[in-house]
This record gives sequence, C-alpha cells and structure tokens, in this order.
Amino acid sequence: MEFKVALIPGDGIGPEIVGEARKVLDRAGEKFGHRFIYKELLMGGASIDVHGVPLTDETLQEAQASDAVLLGAVGGNVGNSRWYDVAPNLRPEAGLLAIRKGLGLFANIRPAYLYQELNEACPLKKEVIGDGFDMVIVRELTGGLYFGKRYTEEVDGVKRAVDTLVYDENEIRRIAVKAFEIAMKRKKNVVSVDKANVLDSSRLWRAVVEEVAKDYPEVTLSHMLVDNCAMQLVMNPGQFDVILTENMFGDILSDEASMITGSIGMLSSASLGAGKLGLYEPSHGSAPDIAGKNLANPIATILSAAMMLRYSFDLDEAADAIEAAVQKVISAGWRTADIMAEGCRQAGTKEMGDLIAAEI
Ligand code: NAD
Repeated sequence: MEFKVALIPGDGIGPEIVGEARKVLDRAGEKFGHRFIYKELLMGGASIDVHGVPLTDETLQEAQASDAVLLGAVGGNVGNSRWYDVAPNLRPEAGLLAIRKGLGLFANIRPAYLYQELNEACPLKKEVIGDGFDMVIVRELTGGLYFGKRYTEEVDGVKRAVDTLVYDENEIRRIAVKAFEIAMKRKKNVVSVDKANVLDSSRLWRAVVEEVAKDYPEVTLSHMLVDNCAMQLVMNPGQFDVILTENMFGDILSDEASMITGSIGMLSSASLGAGKLGLYEPSHGSAPDIAGKNLANPIATILSAAMMLRYSFDLDEAADAIEAAVQKVISAGWRTADIMAEGCRQAGTKEMGDLIAAEI
C-alpha cells in the first residue's frame, strides 16, 4: 500500500531525528511491501525564516491532504530574538497549536513504557517497578477547563477569577471511542479517570464512557478518581493499560507517567482526530543545546513513526517490527548519550537509526 506522509522536521534536533525515523520507516516499508511518499514541510522557526510566520495556510493544506504528519520539534533558544521578539502568535511554538487546531485533533495519546534495561533511570523503587509497565494515556485535548469561558472581575472591591469546565456528551463520546479502539489493539483494559465524587462534568463523563463501553464487550472498563490515579501511578504503575481522561487531568497525569519512565528521549506521542489522520511527534522539544552534534536520541521519533503505522495506517505488523527492533538494539547494549550507562556502547543519532533499521 501507499501512504502520503507530511514530514515536518522543524527546528533544533528536529531534522536529525526525523531523518532517522524516515530511514526506519523506509526499511519497514521495504520489508512489509508498503511505500511512504514524503512531502517535507516547514514549521516553527524554519518557517519563520522563510515565510515570516510559523505555519502558512499552504503548509496546513498540505498537512490536511496527507495521510499522516510526522513532526520533529519546533522552537529554539528563547534568546533567539529573530524568533522570540515578536507577538506570541508569531513564535515557533504557535505553529504547533495552529496545526493541531487545523487538523481537528482532539485526542492526545502518550505511551509510557519502561524498558527493563533502563530501570536505573526510573525514579521508582525496584519493588514498585516489578516487571515494568506499559501504558497509554488518552487525553482529551480540545475541551474542558482550558477551553471554557474565563474572566477576572471585581465584586464589591474583591477580585475574583472564574474558569469554567464544560464538556458535552459528544466530546466525551468521541474521545472514549478512541480509548476503546486503542485498548482493542492492546491488553483490552480501560481505566477512565475523573472526579465524579465532586464534578458534574465528571458524572456526565462516567455515564457516557459506560455507554460507549457497551460497544466494546471485550474491553474491561473501570473508573478511578484522579487523586487516586496520581497515587497509583507511582505505587503500582504496572496495573494500567489504557488510561482515559479529560484535558487537565490528562495534562498532569501524562507528565507524571512520562517522568517515571526516566528517559525523555524515548517517549513518543500522537494526536488524533475524527478520521485516520494523525500528528505524530516525540514528547520532547527541539533540544537546541545538542542540535547538529549527532547526540540526539532518535528513538522517541522512531516510536512515534511506529504509532503512525499502527493508528493512522493500521499497519500493526510493521509497527510491531519497529518496536521490537528498538527493544533489540537496547537489549544489545546500544545507548545514545542521554541514556548512556556503564558497560554499554554509545551510538550517535545516525548510528542509532542505522542499528534500528538493520534490526527490522
Ligand atoms: P527539550 O525537551 O527540548 O530539552 C530538555 C532537555 O532534554 C535538554 O537538555 C535536551 O538536550 C534534552 N533532550 C530533549 N530531547 C532529547 C533527545 N531526543 N535526545 C537527547 N536529549 C534530549 O525542552 P526545552 O529545553 O525546555 O525546550 C527547547 C525548545 O523546544 C524550546 O524552544 C521549547 O519551546 C521547544 N519545545 C517544543 C516542543 C514541541 O515541538 N512539541 C515541546 C517542548 C518544547
């Protein structure tokens, strides 16, 4: 099969890590008989330098016309006055918000997986880690507290600020469907996280998630209060498969989950909309401090490419092969500088890409 991939290298280490992901994708395509047709697009600082804005309408249209978007990272040193001495909507990172909105992406998917070989980087005790963990957080991205009406006023000489948390049943249903679909490709277990003992929006959330669950009888659903979930993530992370939650809870819990993996250069992510089109990117930024030095870890981007194969193209076999190749290279003792440990062999960005491609 043939797929159109919009490649957005972006800034900093972006071009290096996206280059390695492309190498790995091509190898997987060759092995499993698929062809990826790339269209390279500018975004962030790279687009500002050429067009004066972080995302042009033409670039957005090209992204919309593709089957999926693979992004490196955007942004530079805040000291870079060329990019930052401008209005916030003209800075590199504004391109990210604009493309997410333009592509209608409402679901953010962040896996948190612990490689046994990288246990040392995990801040949890060995007895808590147990056999490791492998979870995915599905976060609603375009509703809730961050998008509700907000204002600050003064009433009888006292200042007060108001934020509103609104969800309608359709917004809840569509993100719940994503979570159950993802669970069907995994261990078929969904924990829906809310604050239903206090919030009306959470009670509606719970009711709608239960309705959606009826369409997925093979998936086990349970509910957990967000405060308990924050504790469970550091007490028994191995219990989770898919965590489904609203925008603000997901913002906080996904950062907590990524911290317990201990290695930012390994964490992939995806943002999905109603159809198959998705945007795939590493969870980290553009790391300008190490850009151009062949030091960046390309694994988060390579694993994001694997997510693209799984969720946008339904090429599960090829996605599995990429993930297995990453595991093999790690097991063989290869490490980039950020995850280097005693007794291991150091690889640069390019060498890491070559090693993973060679394992497919
Ligand atoms: P960062 O994630 O870029 O870097 C934090 C630290 O982690 C740095 O020391 C960096 O060298 C290291 N690091 C990050 N990715 C790595 C990798 N793949 N391999 C090895 N080491 C890695 O975060 P920051 O320094 O806060 O931000 C730098 C720039 O990135 C800023 O302009 C910021 O706005 C932008 N940013 C972009 C995104 C995005 O494009 N989605 C996300 C976060 C930050």
